[in-house]
Formats: sequence, structure tokens, C-alpha cells
Amino acid sequence: MRKSAIILLAGLAACSPTATSAQPLRPDAPRLIIAISVDQLSSDLFDEYRPHLTGGLKRLASDGIAFRNGYQSHAATETCPGHSTLLTGKRPATNGIVGNTWLDQNAARADKAIYCAEDENVAGSTSRNYTVSPAHLNGPTLGDRLKAVSPASRNVAVAGKDRSAVMMSGRNVDQRWYRQGNGFATDLKNVAVPRSVTLTNQAVAAALAQARPPLEPPALCQAKGKPYVLSPSLTVGNGRMDRAAGDTSRFLRSPEFDGATLALAAALAQEMNLGRGQATDVLSISLAATDYVGHAYGSGGMEMCLQMLALDRELGDFFAQLDRSGVDYAVVLSADHGVMDIPERLRDKGVADAARADAGLEPGEFGKLMAPQLGLTGSVLRGLGIGGDVWIDASVPGAQRPTVLRAAKVRYAGHPQVHAAFTRDEIMAVPMPTGPVDKWTVIQRVRASFDPARSGDLIVVLKQNISPIAAPSSGYSATHGSPWDYDRRVPILFWRRGTTAISSDEPVETVDIMPTLAGMLGLAVQPGSVDGKCLTGTGVACPR
Ligand code: ZN
Repeated sequence: MRKSAIILLAGLAACSPTATSAQPLRPDAPRLIIAISVDQLSSDLFDEYRPHLTGGLKRLASDGIAFRNGYQSHAATETCPGHSTLLTGKRPATNGIVGNTWLDQNAARADKAIYCAEDENVAGSTSRNYTVSPAHLNGPTLGDRLKAVSPASRNVAVAGKDRSAVMMSGRNVDQRWYRQGNGFATDLKNVAVPRSVTLTNQAVAAALAQARPPLEPPALCQAKGKPYVLSPSLTVGNGRMDRAAGDTSRFLRSPEFDGATLALAAALAQEMNLGRGQATDVLSISLAATDYVGHAYGSGGMEMCLQMLALDRELGDFFAQLDRSGVDYAVVLSADHGVMDIPERLRDKGVADAARADAGLEPGEFGKLMAPQLGLTGSVLRGLGIGGDVWIDASVPGAQRPTVLRAAKVRYAGHPQVHAAFTRDEIMAVPMPTGPVDKWTVIQRVRASFDPARSGDLIVVLKQNISPIAAPSSGYSATHGSPWDYDRRVPILFWRRGTTAISSDEPVETVDIMPTLAGMLGLAVQPGSVDGKCLTGTGVACPR
């Protein structure tokens, strides 16, 4: 893929810079903001691999401003909420993105599931065939804010997942590309397909058509290569990313996918002359392979080691291409959430309480057992998986809803794998948290991703080290979504040429990223309009 990317870039004509200083921003504002999300890059992974980095991650970690204790501060540590905080400065409770999916029992569709990055009101939309849209996101992104005062600025996103591209770019967007099927596609109307997209899609098709031999793990990764048999047909831990021709799933859960995403980002930046226009541009990039590798194989094995080292190399190549363009760019890199490794390996490492959840905790099943005792039939609860939001089923008569809610809370809280079950009223009685994010209570974390119009009637929090995946399957052995630090602690790295390097242990939030970038640009952010703050420790001239 790296070779293809280079060929692809060489094929694009480099245009001459047309920079002027006609922008209503600070005179020393960078010409291009590059905001990168590495999907599922926990701080645990960052700390583990930091001493071994040599490429692009090393540049950010060693020469930039590195906060190793960044927090996706909320409890619903999923992809859509996580990406929604990065460039809005708002927590899910205020930006409305409370999950990847939530239930609206009044929705016309049969399964009542609403996807975070869709507009379900578009005729013909279903939860399987949805219409991609930022409709659910409350509030502007950095790109939206920039374009509001600087119309010549471009707001561009390239991502592995549609929801990541949408949440990082927002509403006023020039280009937005994400994977669909075996190539990159867009939801934007009236956008001609740029040559870089056509060439990248051709390069992906050509790469996919070839089988890929196993990668050669270096000693660091070899040492982590211990197999774990999770089912008769599923062994993880010692995979080397080999792939049959045409196997898209294994393409996605490998460094090839991030390579393609970065190749497209670099090519599009060059084709659009990002950072060489009349005003500062924003390029958002979300890299999804780490997430797919983590879900498929867990975070502690040889597969994730191969992915981390490749990601570091690929980012190095990407920055080198930007360097050659001569554009004055600033980078921020963070993640949408972390991950809990497979409990089988965690136990091996001495985490004695690591376990998979009891399948009976699934709300539909749980509610079925409760129903007879309440004189009801069917299931009295609905949900989207184990842990997190639980809704009282719409079939429960209004008068009985308080009884069902109380009974569900008591029964969930009494389960040995459950830390707590909080009702909507209990959560809404908690003020939006302030103070050091690493010291928040669990219900404060829950509050930060709770929107009473979208969230469940009850939020169930599993105990630490309980994986919500009761039975692992191919591609899905480990996950995230809890309020525990392995899921919420992520690195936040800023870099710009000439920055004085700082490595900080200070706890900060991902909602601080947007106000900090706004400070760097001289973009006014109305006090009280966001949850985050401009980080003064970055050398940015934050507004007083
Ligand atoms: Zn994610």
C-alpha cells in the first residue's frame, strides 16, 4: 500500500502556492490544521509502545506537546460519541451524540434503532440503509466555526468510518470521504469525485485483488505472540495479518486500511492545495484499523503490536509528504476511546477478575425474566447490548413504568458483574461535572454522555474488567464502551514545527482540543458555548 500511495502521489500535478494573508485569524496561525483520530488508541497502548516508536507517532510524542492523560471523559466510550467531542469542544451530553446507536421507540422503523450519523427523516431511510448526515450533532465543529468567519477556508474529512468523518467535519463541509464497500465514498451532493479518490479506490482494488503474505514480526511483537483459543474456530494472539485475495474484512483489520486512508488524505491535501489557499484549512482524518484490529484480536497480542508499529511508520510517511509540500501545518492526534483487552489474556497477566459478561444481562433477556413477577408478558426491557442504555419497552403500560424501572434497577444492581444501575432521574440530578476529570465519580461520567431526549431510562455499568462480549466471534473478541479508564483515557498530542516539546501527565479532556486549536488560530469561542477549555500549557495564546 505504501508503494501504491507514492505512485499515486507522483501522478498528481503539484500546483504552485497561492497563499495570501487575507484571513481574519492570528497572523501566525498555521495554514493547515490536521486533526487525526486513531480509533481505539488507548493511553494504555500509547504508554506501552511509546518507547518503541520511530516514525510519525514518535514525532508527535517526542517533539510536540504530549498529554498522556487525555480523557474522553464520558461513560459511553463509543466511536460516535468519542469523535463528536474531538472538534466540537462539547461532551456527548451537550452535543447529543450519546451512542453509536440509540433507540427511539416512537420511530416508524421496526427495530427503533437510530444511527448517530444519519437523518432518519429522509424518506426511505432504514437502519440498514441509512442516509448519512450530521443532523443529530448539536453544535458546530472547528471547521464549521472557521468557515463561518473565514469563508475561503476549506473543511475536509477523510476517514475509515462514515460516523467519524461526519462528527469531525460537521455541516459546512467541502469534501468528506469515508469507506463504503471496497472504496471511499461521500454523502455530499454536488461534489465531483476528485482524481485522488479515483486513484486511491483503484489502488485499494488492486491491493485487495492480491493475497497478502504474513507480516514478519520484529522481536518486540514476536514476544507477544501467544495464541488464545476463544472458540473451536477462533484463535487470536499470534496472527500475522495474512489475507486471501478479495478478503475485505481482513484488509480492514490490518495496517493496509490506514495506509489507504492516509494515502487518500495526503493526495487530497495535495490536489486541493490544502494549506496553500487564501485562508487556513482543516483536514480531519480518522484511522479505523486500530479499532478493527482491537475488536478482532484484542489489544495485547502480536496483531496489535504489528498494527502499532505500522501506524507509526505510516504516519511518518504521511508527515514526510506534508513536509515536502512546504505547508505550515499543525497536528493534533487523539482517539475516540480506548479498549479492554480480551479477558482470557488479562487473566493470564494477573488481572484475576477479568471475565466475559453473563449473556443474561442483555436487556431483552433480562426483561423477559422480570416480566412474570410484575404480572406482565414478553420482555419489559429493550437495549442494544450488554451494559449501557436500557429502555423500558413501549408495551409496558404508563402506570407500571415506575415499578418496572425500580425493579430493573434493583435486579441489575444485585447482579455480581454489575457495578451500578442509574435511573434517568438519578443521573439528571447530577450537575454537569467540573474539576479534575480523572477524579470524577462513575455517575458523573455517566452524566457527561446522558441526553434525556435520547439516552436510556436506566444506565447499567458493568464492573471493571468485565467484557460486554459474552461470546466472542470472528472480528469481535474485545471491545470498549465502559466508564473505566482503559476505555476513557487516550493520548492528546499537539505538534507544529518549532514547538518546544512538553510531556505532561496533567489530566485533560478531548473537549479541550477544539478551544485550544481555536486559540492557536485566533478564532473566538463564546464563553459557555463549549464544555472544554483552551489548554494554556501548550504555548497557545489562550484568550483570557
Ligand atoms: Zn471507535
